[in-house]
Amino acid sequence: MTAPAADGRLYIDGTFRDPVGGRTGPVLEKATGAPIGTYGRADAADVDLAVRAARAAQPGWAALGAPERAAYLRRFCAYLEQHYEDLVRQSMRETGGVRAKAEDEVGASIRQLQISAVQATDSAGDLLQPYKAGKLSMSRAVPLGVLGLITPWNYPMNLAMRAVAPGLAFGNTVVLKPAELTPIIGGQVLAQAADAAGLPPGVFNVVTGDGPDAGHALAEHRGVDLLDFTGSRAVGVAIAASAAADLRAVRLELGGSNAFVVLDDADVDLAASAAMVASLEFQGQTCISASRHIVQRAVAERYIDAVTRRAEALTVGDPFAAGTDLGPLISEAQRDRLHREIVEPSVAMGATVAAGGTYDGLFYRPTVLTGVTADMPAFRDEIFGPVIPITVVESEEDAIELVNGYPMLMNSVFSADLIRGLGVAERLQAGEVHVNDAHARHGAENQMPGFTRRQWIGLQRTPLTLPDWTADPAGRR
Ligand code: NAD
Repeated sequence: MTAPAADGRLYIDGTFRDPVGGRTGPVLEKATGAPIGTYGRADAADVDLAVRAARAAQPGWAALGAPERAAYLRRFCAYLEQHYEDLVRQSMRETGGVRAKAEDEVGASIRQLQISAVQATDSAGDLLQPYKAGKLSMSRAVPLGVLGLITPWNYPMNLAMRAVAPGLAFGNTVVLKPAELTPIIGGQVLAQAADAAGLPPGVFNVVTGDGPDAGHALAEHRGVDLLDFTGSRAVGVAIAASAAADLRAVRLELGGSNAFVVLDDADVDLAASAAMVASLEFQGQTCISASRHIVQRAVAERYIDAVTRRAEALTVGDPFAAGTDLGPLISEAQRDRLHREIVEPSVAMGATVAAGGTYDGLFYRPTVLTGVTADMPAFRDEIFGPVIPITVVESEEDAIELVNGYPMLMNSVFSADLIRGLGVAERLQAGEVHVNDAHARHGAENQMPGFTRRQWIGLQRTPLTLPDWTADPAGRR
């Protein structure tokens, strides 16, 4: 790949084209602020063209048959594999993540395509069973139709591909609106890949643009059969409310305040090392980042000390420089939200800065806050930055009570006693809990839905004998 598709064009109906309104915006390298491309700012007219193209293409795509669709996905995948190094660097520039994060993002996208290509060709749970004598009952997976995807900036490529790949594999067509902060790695390079793979026009469309314009238009479009949104709770709530008004289908992947629980028998060094990944990987800007650390008093002092020492030893800087652990935050708005709305008010309410608490431009020092209480923003809100808020509790019961009751996606529990750890994990209300580990990728690519609905079909042996409802059993008229 030479320069990535960074010229501000949209990809609609198999054609790269300028936005109808002609508006574009700059794409910036996060560590340097240098412009590295242009994105098209689509509006409702572009979104409408893309949805219409996807609608027109969907029946033919679904009728192709799974092996042919899988072949397209393998060619899509081959493009990403061929351009792996360029894509990793593009992700580092656009998201500000270090190499390991970018490799995770591109690697997961490739795995997702490989898995979806295989899943497309198995029977996808299609069933055929005798119902009773002379009757057969069948069910099969049927595509939903046109998928509208709205994605965030943190893992732009694989958060798109985790829906694009299974969606296409099972016969849906797609309109993707990537985040405006990462439109190239999250959308424009995927359009290039689809084009290189020769996907039929309209099967995969990319409308880059801003949330309130292109995003809103896609979220409201009546021609979309399922809107799949990954992003903030605030936007998710607005989309759900609007969709509820006329019963449009939406699937939401949002954020929360994930908990990291350290019990009094925990291996404190193990927990502190895991905390660096859980709260600081990609500057803490991951939906499954640990957002609150809840620690039993017996180990609190040792844990705070171990976490503080590790956080202070980390290097913040350009992700391309050797030895960098944390790159820049994604934007000034994100930095100001973190500093002014979470760290400063929590300190004003009595929290103590044990490490960090300062920044230079977008480079935010890994920060440890102690004395955090449940009424502070550092406890209640999704942190989404390199800050470790620590709350001390007396007992295991106190920890469980404090964790539950807030929206969360993924928790961790640390205990030297695995049975105890599992027992606590079981009582935490999260979709996923890890015992003695930070958040980890446990085959997430395999857990995504196939974007199908189930259709039941009944068959009956001929000749058909239907009861004659018109005749009176007693023979009267
Ligand atoms: P965001 O909600 O600001 O933006 C996400 C997407 O929505 C972007 O493409 C944006 O352009 C679009 N958008 C913004 N306003 C819109 C509107 N009014 N109508 C339609 N679309 C609109 O979120 P973000 O800051 O990009 O991402 C961070 C959030 O995403 C965090 O809360 C994080 O937890 C969450 N997240 C969740 C997951 C998950 O799988 N659950 C994964 C990654 C990120």
